Amino acid sequence: MNLQVVAPGRVNLIGDHTDYTGGSVMPLAIDRYTVINGVVGGPRVQLSSTAERQPLDLPLDLTHPEAVTPLWAKYVAGVIAEMSNPSGFRGTVSSTIPIGAGLSSSAALEVAAALALGFDGPALELAQLCQRAENRATGLPSGIMDQLTITSGVAGHALLIDCSSLIVSPVALPADVEVVVRFVTQRRLVGSAYADRVAECALAEREVGPLRLATVDEVNTIDDPIIRARALHVVTENRRVIEFAGALSAGDIDEAGQLMLASHNSLRDLYETSTPAMDNAVARLQETPGVYGARMTGGGFGGCVVALTQPGALQNGWVVTAVDGASVSVDS
Ligand code: ADP
Ligand code: MG
Repeated sequence: MNLQVVAPGRVNLIGDHTDYTGGSVMPLAIDRYTVINGVVGGPRVQLSSTAERQPLDLPLDLTHPEAVTPLWAKYVAGVIAEMSNPSGFRGTVSSTIPIGAGLSSSAALEVAAALALGFDGPALELAQLCQRAENRATGLPSGIMDQLTITSGVAGHALLIDCSSLIVSPVALPADVEVVVRFVTQRRLVGSAYADRVAECALAEREVGPLRLATVDEVNTIDDPIIRARALHVVTENRRVIEFAGALSAGDIDEAGQLMLASHNSLRDLYETSTPAMDNAVARLQETPGVYGARMTGGGFGGCVVALTQPGALQNGWVVTAVDGASVSVDS
């Protein structure tokens, strides 16, 4: 049987580094896709990617995905290891999602791979399986946002996700705004300070309990200035996400833009996941007429910035639209 699987990328409008402590995020699945085409069956998974020189060739009974090389094969190996009964598959991977740029090419690859290998179940289970796959195979302790956005996207909507209850609430994007993404620099999250941030949040939670429930006053009692700053970002960012969703629903795009800028400043100053190049890109966007707000997006340390704008305000960058989640079709 020939299959085609299509998995979108995602851009996060607000709420970065809040998912792994059960906070709130507001991303959308975007019209850039990872596509897997191929034939189901056989005893192995064999894939080549237009983005990689080395193809992968993996058995179905692998139990140590972290030992697999090259790096890109780990993501698929993790999916194989987490699936209860994966099918063999032979095919190709291609993508219009820039790789290593904060638009979640990694989760798109995982979700596409799981569907190609026969996963059949609810969007949340697919997302959780792929999150486990990434954590296990690459060691990156990433949250659920990317995978859940890619499996649960709704055309025309951003997704307000409560990463504790895992409830996804689609919020319609106003017709008279554009979401524009600008590429700044490539980076790789595996081996970055991402894992340090997760550990720092865990230290904060040892002192004040779950950050999703903590107040600013409670966080201010943390002695260590670095841990306090990280926690302050998370607590204020969670609040900004809820306010942003409210502003978007009420059509108050100026307010939504201000919240994006506040989020960027918090990621820059408190969470320290921005870079000078991203700060510059945001500053340039922020002073452009017709831009409501801009911020870095995704895990950080490079990647992309995102802006909310009046239609046609920006000449450079990708105007992205919100699309449905990943899907699989029989290719005749
Ligand atoms: P992001 O998810 O923001 O793009 P990550 O650092 O999380 O960045 O993941 C990027 C990695 O995912 C790449 O280094 C590569 O190993 C893998 N990857 C993603 N998309 C593809 C693809 N189409 N083909 C091969 N590998 C891919
Ligand atoms: Mg990723």
